[in-house]
Amino acid sequence: MSRLDMFIDRMVSQRACIDHAAALLADVAGPAFELGLGNGRTYHHMRKVLDPRDIYVFERAVAAHPDSTPPDDRLILGDVFETLPQALDRFGPTAVLIHADLGGHNRAKNDVFARSISPYVQPLLAPGGLMVSSDQMYFDGFEELPLPEHAVPGRCFIYRAP
Ligand code: SAM
Repeated sequence: MSRLDMFIDRMVSQRACIDHAAALLADVAGPAFELGLGNGRTYHHMRKVLDPRDIYVFERAVAAHPDSTPPDDRLILGDVFETLPQALDRFGPTAVLIHADLGGHNRAKNDVFARSISPYVQPLLAPGGLMVSSDQMYFDGFEELPLPEHAVPGRCFIYRAP
């Protein structure tokens, strides 16, 4: 597979999984979290499909397109290993959707990162809350959901909290 093929698979899968999660959560109140703003493409899409739900964005350093930069009161700046525990104190287990795209091009490194960040993400999800991730996560007792149409297996994962 070329890098272009992999990039396209990731984009198509992110959109399909975010759309699917938004539909599943249509009648469920609660905030959503975006982990890793990057260019802001997925955040921009989440705003479209989750509006008017609050979306809090976790990012180390903002470098997004201006259209895709969250307002200051929805931006949580810093390393997620520090800001996620702070978010647990602030929000408790209330997030109904967490989307994460924190990795880079190295899948082995992404897997190590996903393994270490999973215990920081798990307690933030509300009962029945969904996690959409570009990397396999390592949760205890969460159900991995089947992927929606158009999502490419291995390029996106959906988990549901008990
Ligand atoms: N989904 C985004 C989009 O559609 O544009 C792309 C996200 S980009 C692949 C990953 C982002 O995660 C980068 O902006 C990086 O700064 C952020 N990131 C990676 N590790 C982080 C960490 N430990 N704490 C906070 N942000 C982190």
